[in-house]
Amino acid sequence: MENKKRIFHHHQQRQSRVMEAIVLYPSPPIGHLVSMVELGKFILTCHPSCSIHILITTPPYRADDTAPYIASVSATTPSIIFHHLPTISLPPSSTSSPNHETLTFEVLRLNNPNVHKALLSISNNFTVQAFIMDFFCGLGLSVAIDLNIPGYFFFTSGAGCLASFLTLPAIHKNTDKSLKDLNTLLAIPGVPPIPSSDMPKPVLVRNDKAYECFLESSTQLPKSAGIIVNTFESLESRAIRAISDGLCLPEDVPTPPIFCIGPLIFAHNQRGGGNDDVPECLTWLDSQPSGSVVFLCFGSLGLFTKEQLREIAAGLERSGQRFLWVVRNPPSHNQSVAIAGQVDPDLDYLLPDGFLDRTKDRGLVVKSWAPQVAVLNHDSVGGFVSHCGWNSVLEAVCAGVPIVSWPLYAEQRFNRVILVEEIKIALPMNESLDGFVNATEVEKRVRELMDSEEGESIRKRTKALKSEANAALSEAGTSRIAFTKLVESWNQG
Ligand code: UDP
Repeated sequence: MENKKRIFHHHQQRQSRVMEAIVLYPSPPIGHLVSMVELGKFILTCHPSCSIHILITTPPYRADDTAPYIASVSATTPSIIFHHLPTISLPPSSTSSPNHETLTFEVLRLNNPNVHKALLSISNNFTVQAFIMDFFCGLGLSVAIDLNIPGYFFFTSGAGCLASFLTLPAIHKNTDKSLKDLNTLLAIPGVPPIPSSDMPKPVLVRNDKAYECFLESSTQLPKSAGIIVNTFESLESRAIRAISDGLCLPEDVPTPPIFCIGPLIFAHNQRGGGNDDVPECLTWLDSQPSGSVVFLCFGSLGLFTKEQLREIAAGLERSGQRFLWVVRNPPSHNQSVAIAGQVDPDLDYLLPDGFLDRTKDRGLVVKSWAPQVAVLNHDSVGGFVSHCGWNSVLEAVCAGVPIVSWPLYAEQRFNRVILVEEIKIALPMNESLDGFVNATEVEKRVRELMDSEEGESIRKRTKALKSEANAALSEAGTSRIAFTKLVESWNQG
């Protein structure tokens, strides 16, 4: 092993006049790929002399169709080079895995030899300065260590959530119960007390394979050369300080440097160029008064049952507020979540009788997908009912639009606590024990958001954070300084 390291090191030194490269390793879902590409673009903006290499994992099952997206990035940003790794073959036992997180972890585990080969091959032509992994790809760290390349994580959620994963191994040691049954408030440094059932969904059930995988990835975090986080100093200062001060890890485990370089948000769905390709919902927004419309949109995977859709419709109607609502087909037993979201819904069948007609002067329902960034930045939009995926949160902050938080999956319940209690840019949507939200709650929260003192207070706070986000990304801003430190750290690596 030592010998291999030496040869590799020597090889890198020989190449020292060769172009510098940063290798990025996203996990397969398209959302994670898009985040990594944004990171790659940001690196290129600040550090144009290097080239970015992105390793694309090929799972053996039908995954998101990333080909058109990859082709468009290659066409517009030639300094980003994609490397398609060979298809993984899963042993028969693992294909019966219950959830997609577990399957993803399994695929990534088997991918390590491919990652090893790819890093060696890239280093034939480039000096690999850093290997940056998605949180799911934590097992790739051993490959980087083996090859003497500094390995970093890119954490695509907030610093508060990062604090929870850094603390997870300690939480695990202190109990033998599942978090969903613990029924307590967890003291995670830098964040408000977190109800144990609000921890990220995949870690709620202790004997679940996904729990084991997340726990394993959490233990990789401190072994890295640094953790890059898609957040900014003034958004989550307390959590960032707690992590940097080492409070989230045991005393004998040093905390790697934390680089908060965000907010990095996607520029892919801005308003179209010519008048012809402006989506209908943006033209509709043009005709609405400033700050008057509440936008309802639930990420790439958020689906509701027909009953829940009807309840939302009733709540919106009674609220009397203007709205723009993205409606998808409900999940059905014989369709995957992704496919249900792709087939356009039959609105007359799904929504209450006459709803569309009665609200046509003040509401618009969009089928399946809206250009969220452009919508949030439209002057007529004044509020956002969101599932609180981290990208949606950052997009709302950058647009200065306050939120009603309606978490559905992943780490969104955790985000609700942070947004409502710590950052104070959201009101909570409260669900019943089975997750159902009734029309009265929808009506109340939408009214509160658009027309109350509380709503106004979180609106002011969100607008202030919008300026802070711009400041963080400006020349001498905190995110730029963090990025410079990141580059210094990999130059020393
Ligand atoms: N998005 C969009 N239109 C939609 C739904 C989602 O543009 O109708 C985009 C949204 O702007 C965000 C991403 O999809 O960039 C969703 O990411 P997020 O982290 O919020 O949630 P996830 O889909 O990962 O749960």
